[in-house]
Amino acid sequence: MKSTRKSTRIINTDRHDELRRILEERRQELSSELRRQIHHVRAIGPADLAQGVVDAEEASVSDIQEDIEIALMQMKSETLSRVNEALGRLEAGRYGFCYECGDEISEARLRALPFALRCKDCEEEREQAEARDKFYARRGTTAAILDIAS
Ligand SMILES: [Zn+2]
Repeated sequence: MKSTRKSTRIINTDRHDELRRILEERRQELSSELRRQIHHVRAIGPADLAQGVVDAEEASVSDIQEDIEIALMQMKSETLSRVNEALGRLEAGRYGFCYECGDEISEARLRALPFALRCKDCEEEREQAEARDKFYARRGTTAAILDIAS
């Protein structure tokens, strides 16, 4: 059988579909949460104040609540745009590959961490290197302190 595929990179369509499903699920989840929150913020907003049923203390509590809700909404909408970006990268064949070694990042890992930049092995290596750096940095600080003390 002759292959009609033009691309030189062998794209695993199953994996591609699965990754798209993961990202689209996340997108749907985020946008429905956002819609719910927008509704909620409107619900605790100006209407209560207009009716004069909220005293000053309650108003400030609901202000804080509203601030938190808005902050959460901002975080979610940022995540949502990252999901959209990831979907764009997926279509371009640039999503789901390790930044360090170029290998495919496992679907299980991407499901848990949709914005993972490294495969598990590279991430672990990096964490170990970071821990090592911290260890030496701390030792360096201790040495410096001892220097000063002596
Ligand atoms: Zn890697």
